[in-house]
Amino acid sequence: MGCFDTLYFICPACNKITTCQSKADECLLREFSINEAPLTIILDVENDSKRGNLYCDYCEEQLELKVQYIVNPVLKNKIRK
Ligand SMILES: [Zn+2]
Repeated sequence: MGCFDTLYFICPACNKITTCQSKADECLLREFSINEAPLTIILDVENDSKRGNLYCDYCEEQLELKVQYIVNPVLKNKIRK
């Protein structure tokens, strides 16, 4: 049996929760929302979508994952001494 991790997200066409699988990371049968998945899985699914292999499980619309990096400095509430 092949192992994988599952990424789930809301389809922009039908608004239902759809999933896709990735073998890019540790493949421990974990489930991640699109906002908490490891970057290795996000990039794997993005590449798969660019090859035309990402479809909604429900409406079967072809989808593309567009990855945008947002990096923000956050306060640690500690001043250097
Ligand atoms: Zn859909």
